[in-house]
Amino acid sequence: MADVVVIGSGPNGLTAACVLARAGLDVVVVEAAPHAGGAVRTVESTLPGFRHDVGAAFFPFGTLSPAYKELDLQGAGLKLAWAPIDSAHPARDGSCAAIGRDLERCARALGDDGPALQSWVRWWRGVEPKLLPALLAEPPAARAMAGVSPLSLARFASAAAMSGRGFAERVFASPAAQRILPALALHTDVAPSDPLGCPIGFMLGMTATTGGFAVPLGGAGEVTKALLARLRELGGRLELGARVERVVVEEARAVGVRTARGSIDAKLAVVADTAAPTLYLELLSDRVVPASVSDKMRSFKLGFGTFKLDWALDGPVPWASELCGEAAVVHTGEDLDDLERFAREVRAGEMPRDPYLVIGQQSLVDPSRAPRGAHTLWAYSRVPATLAGAPWTDEAKAAFAERVEARIEGLAPGFRRCIMKRFVQAPKDLERMDENLLGGDLGGGTADISNQLFLRPMFPYYRYRTPVRGVYLGSSYAHPGAGAHGMCGYNAAGAVLADAGMTQGS
Ligand SMILES: Cc1cc2nc3c(=O)[nH]c(=O)nc-3n(C[C@H](O)[C@H](O)[C@H](O)COP(=O)(O)OP(=O)(O)OC[C@H]3O[C@@H](n4cnc5c(N)ncnc54)[C@H](O)[C@@H]3O)c2cc1C
Repeated sequence: MADVVVIGSGPNGLTAACVLARAGLDVVVVEAAPHAGGAVRTVESTLPGFRHDVGAAFFPFGTLSPAYKELDLQGAGLKLAWAPIDSAHPARDGSCAAIGRDLERCARALGDDGPALQSWVRWWRGVEPKLLPALLAEPPAARAMAGVSPLSLARFASAAAMSGRGFAERVFASPAAQRILPALALHTDVAPSDPLGCPIGFMLGMTATTGGFAVPLGGAGEVTKALLARLRELGGRLELGARVERVVVEEARAVGVRTARGSIDAKLAVVADTAAPTLYLELLSDRVVPASVSDKMRSFKLGFGTFKLDWALDGPVPWASELCGEAAVVHTGEDLDDLERFAREVRAGEMPRDPYLVIGQQSLVDPSRAPRGAHTLWAYSRVPATLAGAPWTDEAKAAFAERVEARIEGLAPGFRRCIMKRFVQAPKDLERMDENLLGGDLGGGTADISNQLFLRPMFPYYRYRTPVRGVYLGSSYAHPGAGAHGMCGYNAAGAVLADAGMTQGS
């Protein structure tokens, strides 16, 4: 028996649990996996002594998330570190753009485009303290938005209304500067020319210059450890290895959950840190879910699949560009057309020829990730969940890993000679690791405009409440979406407390 059962212990589930426990409620988190953390964990996937993040690795929201600030994760033991450059964007022609907290240096790297970057970043730094919490809050966040000046809102809207390509071409002249924000947007499934596609890359770029692409010392799993420490302190409980199979509903209201081990009653609420389709099509009976909701969930649009690689290296990556050797994250992509070509291939269900990559160099910042002198490397590309409808075979995985390594080798001659061991995961492998990653989608559904704000994961259930009283969706499938910021869980917990007539504790 508990006041609230939280299904799933990803960053959103744990954040929701902490906020509810802090308000004085008895909370139990029920997790299917034998470990907590969802996609925020660190394991030795290659060789002993090499510690790789299974999913989230870089934390622009580590210091910016209102949820993490309130829970004081640093006070709970989380230590963050930053590389000199947050994000580098090299190309084979030798050019390399950069964006990050060291604005002067990044602007110098952009040459004639430097002043344009400085102008946008200086403006963003001024408005971020008010605008970012408003964008992360439960929509429409009218009160929080009212604190942002109309001029700032207008400037933000002018950027948000564009495609990534439109914004990049209007603001920057060189292909190097133009590729920065659209490459960041391809963390999701938003291509440079997608209408209204600018905000994702813009937000990632701007927060790279404030929160920066922070690296948790000891591994991303330290974020989970800090959340668990807070939860324990607040009296919350965690049950591992107990998959919830059903949310029990009586008289149109949730009264608990059922797992293979037995049932747990919930006096007040059930918060699901699960995929939205899983909640609506599997955990809730179709007797309590309106047909319009089930229909929408059956055709729910996922983002691209993900192909993830870890390497154990006997030294640092021998990048041709100096900036890459100092960067937390390196993004490949020659220019806007190259990024566009990549997205087109994924959308066509093809294995991308020359993959766009997000490459993480955690051990440059945190030497505890690898034995002395050695390094870890982490990367992902976006791919189709299946290849022309067929599952990824071992041969396909090996072939794609070769393409990934060839792309890195082209920017870092000698890279292949540094490799001691490689570990790869295709979309289905990621889903097996964390069932929220449906089809290997790391985004909690598409990041295109059809799944944002009032439409996430569907209208009118965009504010964490569901058609079933007492059931709340608090995972990255809810606003504000993917990223290890805890805000989906934080806002869902806020909805539970508001409906119970309670206020948040402190
Ligand atoms: C390869 C990769 C790279 C990423 N890189 C970054 C990054 O650098 N920075 C960043 O901010 N974000 C990154 N992300 C995204 C980030 O990890 C996610 O947005 C975040 O983890 C979502 O948190 P969540 O709590 O909603 O869900 P998850 O972290 O997915 O956790 C959900 C949990 O719920 C459990 N669960 C699901 N169903 C049930 C059930 N029926 N019963 C019991 N338990 C259940 C799952 O087992 C899982 O533990 C990355 C993700 C991936 C996969």
